[in-house]
Amino acid sequence: MVWKILAVVALITLPVSVTFWRKSHKKPEMYRWDVAADKSLRVFLRNGTCGFRLLSMPDPSPLESAFRGPLAYDPSPKNRRFVLSSTRSGPYRITWFVFPFWLPTLALTSLGAIPVIRGPVRRSWRRSRGLCEECGYNLQGNRSGRCSECGTRFR
Ligand SMILES: [Zn+2]
Repeated sequence: MVWKILAVVALITLPVSVTFWRKSHKKPEMYRWDVAADKSLRVFLRNGTCGFRLLSMPDPSPLESAFRGPLAYDPSPKNRRFVLSSTRSGPYRITWFVFPFWLPTLALTSLGAIPVIRGPVRRSWRRSRGLCEECGYNLQGNRSGRCSECGTRFR
């Protein structure tokens, strides 16, 4: 049941991930939010990569409204596609989180496929070990053709 709920959620969010993936290629953009007076968050989408950069300042500064603008350069550190780091630069702390969009897309696709492939995989695993496909009861020595636990026919 849990897997089915997760799969439904994954299949709903999958198009969102794919949409941002495409958008990052067609129209690279950078967003900025001042999440607190001393914390500024930048989010960028570019060439299949999503990046978050959180700047923590020692003193509060006036909040700036969010803006978005086209992005002509690669802002991630050393142009890397996957970054998870937090470094100090003088009184500032910069936290980076960069990941490629195929990562969440692959994760959501796999999550969505689990309930579909789980049943057949489990059945063939049980069959190969001489267990009932339905309930996993050991069928060795059983000549009746029916599982004595759940009544499922087997060959
Ligand atoms: Zn059975």
